[in-house]
Amino acid sequence: MSRFWSDIVHRLKPYVPGEQPVHTNPVKLNTNENPYPPSPRVLDAIRHELGETADTLRRYPDPTALRLRETVARYHGIHAGQVFVGNGSDEVLAHVFQALLKHEHPILFPDITYSFYPTYARLYDVEYRTIALDEAFAVRLDGYAAPNGGVLFPNPNAPTGRALPLTEIERLLERKTESVVVVDEAYVDFGAESAVGLIDRYPNLLVVHTASKARSLAGMRVGFAFGDATLIDALNRVKDSFNSYPLDRLAQAAAIAAYEDDAWFRDSCRKVIASRERLSAGLTALGFEVVPSAANFVFARHEGHDAAALATRLREKAIFVRHFNAPRIDQHLRISVGTDAECDALLDALRDVIGGQVG
Ligand SMILES: *Cc1c(COP(=O)(O)O)cnc(C)c1O
Repeated sequence: MSRFWSDIVHRLKPYVPGEQPVHTNPVKLNTNENPYPPSPRVLDAIRHELGETADTLRRYPDPTALRLRETVARYHGIHAGQVFVGNGSDEVLAHVFQALLKHEHPILFPDITYSFYPTYARLYDVEYRTIALDEAFAVRLDGYAAPNGGVLFPNPNAPTGRALPLTEIERLLERKTESVVVVDEAYVDFGAESAVGLIDRYPNLLVVHTASKARSLAGMRVGFAFGDATLIDALNRVKDSFNSYPLDRLAQAAAIAAYEDDAWFRDSCRKVIASRERLSAGLTALGFEVVPSAANFVFARHEGHDAAALATRLREKAIFVRHFNAPRIDQHLRISVGTDAECDALLDALRDVIGGQVG
């Protein structure tokens, strides 16, 4: 605290990201990064962008990231004018809160969801109400029909990994036309159905994507929003009142290359999905209850073992998983899907920790 702080700083509750350990060789299953590298074309594109002498870095990047927007628009069969890009989808979401979600009624999002949402709501002074997930941790879209200033949910949801079918999302869109519906599809490529194909039909639908998860570019910070040009325009107005150049030259070049190598992307998703099923089976065999996941992580609890204690014991073995000290989920662990070798290291360590008590 300091008397120099602006009033709002006293009231913020900043998001706490998963630890980036300093261990030399951690088994890092705590922030949903992809265990596989990005397409080799990404490295080529970065080298090409830099040239021999990095002289290109003297100049500002394209403030509109036009080539990147065109590439990603083509990928999704939409127009560049329906694409917004930001410095990671977290920044995109921040602009969404400020540009599209501040209205007379509170916005609605799930009680258990991405914990950045309440953080942004406080930062931008947006009122919100949460709607409880059902007993099985599924989002109940029925609850979102009440008058609201906007609706926001991830699909698949985080940190549960559960996905909604597209038909349910479309049913909500058919009923709700007077406020913006934001679907955060950070994990959609690992097994859910994308709503991007619906943006032409629903001018109030905004779909948010990231290059951080399925495209292995968390370190580059590239995120997207797809929607009607008027929604994109609102985001650009906020962006151009904040930072004209949110994506540097290397990030734009890297993301273009990643979207151009579809075979690499598909192969990486396929491997992660196969490892997820294997990890889920391994955890179940150890006595965990595992929420069915359509993401690159699983959400699991063990009747006989306190989740926070398990996370601590794993950390001592240089294995990092995520524990949220929050109502309803403080006995769960969120475990990112690593390589099969990393998942095996986790399962071995858990077998050790749980010891003779299973069986
Ligand atoms: C990881 C994640 C994001 C943010 O990703 P960026 O790295 O900022 O692009 C957004 N939403 C959800 C639900 C996430 O899990």
